[in-house]
Amino acid sequence: MLSTNIFYSGYNMLFSVLSLFIGIGSVFLIRHSKDFRGLFLFQLGGLTMILLTYITTQEHLLYKIGLNYNFVIFVQILISILISLLWLNSATELYNHQLANREALTIYTTLALTLCMYYSFVDYNSEYVSLLRPMFLLIGIVFLFLSSIVSLVRRHNVGYFLLSLSLFMLLEKLVVSTFFYQYNWLNLNIFNWLWIYIFAIAVIFIRFAIDERKLQRSWNSIDKLNLQIMNMIDTSPFPILIVRTTDNKFLTINNKASILFGITRKDSNYHTLDDILIDEENRNKFFKHLRQYDSVSDFDVMVCNLVSATPFWMSASAKYIEYNNTESIYFTVQDIALRKEREINLQNQANKDPLTMVWNRHYFEKFTPNRADECIQNAQNFSLLLVDADKFKKINDKYGHKIGDKVLIEIAETCRSSLRDDDIVARFGGEEFIIFLNDTDSHSAFRVAERLRQNIENAEIHGEDDDIIKITVSIGVVSSEKTASIEVLIRQVEEAMYLAKHNGRNQVALYEETKVKSYQAKKTKKSSQRNIHPVFQNEESEEISLIDNYDSKLI
Ligand code: GH3
Ligand code: MG
Ligand code: MG
Repeated sequence: MLSTNIFYSGYNMLFSVLSLFIGIGSVFLIRHSKDFRGLFLFQLGGLTMILLTYITTQEHLLYKIGLNYNFVIFVQILISILISLLWLNSATELYNHQLANREALTIYTTLALTLCMYYSFVDYNSEYVSLLRPMFLLIGIVFLFLSSIVSLVRRHNVGYFLLSLSLFMLLEKLVVSTFFYQYNWLNLNIFNWLWIYIFAIAVIFIRFAIDERKLQRSWNSIDKLNLQIMNMIDTSPFPILIVRTTDNKFLTINNKASILFGITRKDSNYHTLDDILIDEENRNKFFKHLRQYDSVSDFDVMVCNLVSATPFWMSASAKYIEYNNTESIYFTVQDIALRKEREINLQNQANKDPLTMVWNRHYFEKFTPNRADECIQNAQNFSLLLVDADKFKKINDKYGHKIGDKVLIEIAETCRSSLRDDDIVARFGGEEFIIFLNDTDSHSAFRVAERLRQNIENAEIHGEDDDIIKITVSIGVVSSEKTASIEVLIRQVEEAMYLAKHNGRNQVALYEETKVKSYQAKKTKKSSQRNIHPVFQNEESEEISLIDNYDSKLI
């Protein structure tokens, strides 16, 4: 009773001071974590409402205004309900925005409701008020007890604290009620609400401490991650530089970058990106692109090694990042020569014959029509040659396929070296090569073919036992003088080549319609006389050539 009297006289004052204390606690929390901004408003709003409620319901104030007692109680209940609703609404908002976890919110809400109800009725002495007052407090404590059990089950450390606190409060109530109020457990003493304030402050600080610990853990893992990233940068096969945005100074460079640009890692802080991006126009373009798109990829830049002062082109990629809380640029370069080589390799894989490394048939068929069109547009002729190794099967049979391959490589190489760079040499079939001659009429094409034939005839190919293998070829020639259709020309050049075979091999035959037709007619006649299937007609060509006496060079 004594304690009640002591505190009762300074009740209003104490309440205000303690409310202020909670407000300050909240401010302290926000200063340390942005996430507590909502919590602060929530608590401040709630406490203001409680305070207002308390002040407006002061008995002496009400008597002065001359309000009816029952009306005041009614208003008080309305205000209490309003506060409870506001508080619950704020709690839901906080939860929805993930600014506080479920347990913390349950505790705050319970606390707020308890305080609200308790202080709403604390000054009234009618019978039902004196019954309501301890009832609210009891309900509040039971809520606290339950939420602490939930907290515990969910393994939150705060659960231990809450549980012991609520148990202590219950125990305290039991003891005080028993000894001071003669077993009237619904009666109250001042310690109840004092404990609630202590509890409120403690919960806030414990909550804060937990968040601090979590934050510390997060910092630790960020540090670990940073270390891992640094290791990755260090061991990267590409040169990597981190550059401060404000003055382009290097914050860190990896080993590769240090070697490439001739900057020791110790001195890297004294250099800027401008030192290595030496071409001003190129550098400005690079930064303009970076600012515009926030990142740059595969941008060709002129860079320089600071020791040897040699400029060279590289392909750079860059991106704005935050490095150690500093606005920075992640900058990496790649050797263009290497990339170009890879591109060419890939292109070659698709378009080149893997054995002889001349173009393949697919490439020839795809690209020669374009080249043919170019020639036509420039009023030029072009020609096709079809080169077929003579009796190649015998080479394979005698020396084996490996040497056969070597012979094919040699033929391809001789074709390439005997022709101009802009002529196209392609492997057309097993031992056949087709050639596109740019800006060449039939006369010149025949001469080129003859020179090629001689070069191949004169080539000496070394077999396994150092024996010299000789090979000859038969070449068909056609030019675009009469038709420019590649399809037709390919058919004609094949016929010309067969004619060269037919005429005795190791020779060049120019396509001429009349002669080819008469040769074909003779061939068909022979075949039908001997009843040979058309598939084997070419096998017969040698025999025919012995019988007929064609001009070996021209049809
Ligand atoms: P002809 O003078 O009439 O052209 O006689 P040929 O033996 O050269 O002609 P044929 O078309 O009868 O035989 C071509 C041979 O070329 C058959 C095949 O085994 C061989 N050949 C085709 N492609 C390859 C290859 O990639 N490597 C090797 N070693 N031989 C090949
Ligand atoms: Mg052939
Ligand atoms: Mg052949």
